[in-house]
Amino acid sequence: MKIRWQSAPGDDESRSSRQARAAERRALKELAAVYRAVDALLAPFTCDRSAACCQLQRTRREPFLFSIELVRLRDGLERAGRPFPAERADGGCRLLDKSGMRCSVYGDRPFGCRTFFCEKGRGPRSMPNLEINRLSARLTRLSDGLALSVSPRQLSELLAEAANGEGEHR
Ligand code: SF4
Repeated sequence: MKIRWQSAPGDDESRSSRQARAAERRALKELAAVYRAVDALLAPFTCDRSAACCQLQRTRREPFLFSIELVRLRDGLERAGRPFPAERADGGCRLLDKSGMRCSVYGDRPFGCRTFFCEKGRGPRSMPNLEINRLSARLTRLSDGLALSVSPRQLSELLAEAANGEGEHR
């Protein structure tokens, strides 16, 4: 089955698709709460915003992406009238801006990007890992049961699937 990345105009708004969309909206609300919670938790830590961690091929360290986050990214791009970004020649995340130095979806960036810190980050001695794990578990629960439900996967892999319209519905 295909990941339905963008809503096709003239789609039949059947009862089940309306219900699926309503479930997405509820999950998106909770996702926003999860993002607020993790941002507050990590507020004492600094990030130089150099986008070094977004050079995914170079770092070989990728955040994971959950289905509900894919929905948020899809909606954000649709609202901005942006097409789904193509793969970058430099191996950086395809959601970087043209310069390759800034995330173009910063407000919608996934949980894995929010919780990723490199050696340049400064802050308290230890990360609040227990709370981060609890929030991550909430993301799993939110993603289960969505019409667009795909297993959490590495960001570039799942974005490539979404771009190609491949993947599984459950
Ligand atoms: S989504 Fe944004 S923050 Fe995350 S890797 Fe891509 S460009 Fe970087």
